[in-house]
Amino acid sequence: MIGKLIKRSFDDLLNLFYPNPCLLCDRVLQEQEEFVCTHCRLDLPETGQHRGMAPTTGENKFAGKVPVTFVYSYLYFAKGSRTQRLIHQLKYRNKKELGSLLGRWYGHQLRTECELQHQIDLIVGVPLHPARHRQRGYNQSDWFARGLSEVLEIPWSDRVLARNHFTVSQTGKDRLNRWRNVSSVFSVMQADFIENKRILLVDDVLTTGATLEACTTALLASNCRSVGIITIAATR
Ligand SMILES: [Zn+2]
Repeated sequence: MIGKLIKRSFDDLLNLFYPNPCLLCDRVLQEQEEFVCTHCRLDLPETGQHRGMAPTTGENKFAGKVPVTFVYSYLYFAKGSRTQRLIHQLKYRNKKELGSLLGRWYGHQLRTECELQHQIDLIVGVPLHPARHRQRGYNQSDWFARGLSEVLEIPWSDRVLARNHFTVSQTGKDRLNRWRNVSSVFSVMQADFIENKRILLVDDVLTTGATLEACTTALLASNCRSVGIITIAATR
């Protein structure tokens, strides 16, 4: 208790001299705010895709390639946008807790607006290449998974999927070879564990969908029941 109080006073003192600015507008954050001020939070370019009935842009991307139950992205992503600035901080500025915060924010919407907690059994992040993981020290998708897991009360695991070590240059290969190359990048480490489970696969940004497609293929080949996809952001 006393330790907590001392820590609290120390944090307050620290804030006085080194106030934590909002990552998006530089305004000093209030006590209850983390990373992004309330004003900027309300102004985030949310897609609202989980509320719609029509197929999402993401779902259209996977149509005819691999069966996915849903594809939702929390925010729209564009070059120079606020979303890009957040993703940059999450990936390159060691702000891993920002990933968990975004997961909690979106998790609350998914819980109350489409009851996602009843539609999935396990949350799995797209793994980074091992060399990249070592260099960064963390996987931003796992931190997003953590935040979703906390609010949806669904377990998450970073032990299900593995990204294999090899990287072959993809330039100059034809489309089929390129696809083969990507699809052998991921392997399932615990096939027994995911058998018959409804997996929620999560990643930071959805662009072409090739990586998510490869992960989904690997998961379905290991007899999970279904795969749904959620990303922090997606291009329009
Ligand atoms: Zn702000």
